[in-house]
Amino acid sequence: MKIKYYLIASLLFLFWAESTQAQNKKRSYDHYYDGPYVFFQEDTTQVYWINAGQLLDTSYTAAHADSIDLSFILKDSIAYQNLITQDIPLDHQTVYNDVEHVVAISDIHGQYELMLTLLKENKVITNDGHWNFGEGHMVIVGDIFDRGEYVLDILWFMIRLEQEAAAAGGKVHVMLGNHEVMVLQKDIRYVHKKYRYTSALFRTPYSELFEGDSFLGRWVRSKPIYLKINDVSFVHGGISEDFFNYDVDLEDLNSTYHQLIFGKVDPEEPETPFESFLLYDNGPLWYRGYAFKDEYDLKRTTKLLKKLDSEHIVVGHTSMPNIISMFDNRIIFVDSSIKLGDTGEILFIKNGKFISADQNGLTKTL
Ligand code: ZN
Repeated sequence: MKIKYYLIASLLFLFWAESTQAQNKKRSYDHYYDGPYVFFQEDTTQVYWINAGQLLDTSYTAAHADSIDLSFILKDSIAYQNLITQDIPLDHQTVYNDVEHVVAISDIHGQYELMLTLLKENKVITNDGHWNFGEGHMVIVGDIFDRGEYVLDILWFMIRLEQEAAAAGGKVHVMLGNHEVMVLQKDIRYVHKKYRYTSALFRTPYSELFEGDSFLGRWVRSKPIYLKINDVSFVHGGISEDFFNYDVDLEDLNSTYHQLIFGKVDPEEPETPFESFLLYDNGPLWYRGYAFKDEYDLKRTTKLLKKLDSEHIVVGHTSMPNIISMFDNRIIFVDSSIKLGDTGEILFIKNGKFISADQNGLTKTL
């Protein structure tokens, strides 16, 4: 029944889009592009994209899936080749040591251009968009999805950069935020209207474009929620003290999350207190406790970090005007409101120093 209503809603939306288009050129969908969305079928790999408001597709035999060149769709003059694979290993590793350079960026929310400017001006990528951070690690602390218009562009950019970084001995860590999981779990309240148009053209609920048969769905589901690089913990929302009531090792948190949340038939129905904890307010992707006034003092923070076996914790999720440091860099809020599309900052960590850098390349030691 749901599907029936959905089809009717989609058709109404298309009708509305068409008639609105006729009435008002400014609201035309002719300039819309989106994709590519790649799906694995038994013997073929289907690639769909939207050009000038039209849904187009092409198929490849399974034997050629890994050599598909998406450059003609992504159109930014960089080769997007050999990126697609059916078998994406789940990224369960939580601990990385002896990493000399780290850069973190968070809550990009579809702001592709501002993200590129931040990374270029601070030499993380070259002016033509290639990895320039050597053996360094770049951490995206969640929330690429939702709000903005260029989510897919960012996903494909990260998929390409992952390979370039690996080839240079570095690493790109795309971490899950609550907005990734919301879209995967059919909560599309925050998707940009462009993606509602995409959904209508596909005649499919938007979340289904990220189901298990899709390359992007598999890729997103493979990502970690907790990392520790050297003595710094990274997590989108925060690790609340409640976490330590459950008998789960931090080093197992990524594999446990993948198993409990994505490995289930119906992820919306938590079965155990720990599953509820992972999905809701005090869970790693949603927690905001560190940002509440009077919640954490130096003593409580030091105690928490000891449990995390870390000296510092970097979190996104709570938007700040800049990157904000608390308690002598013990807690760093790295969501600098990139989502607004105007300004933003990224965080460099090097030799125990924490440095924020803005879209003009101006830096400040925290
Ligand atoms: Zn968030």
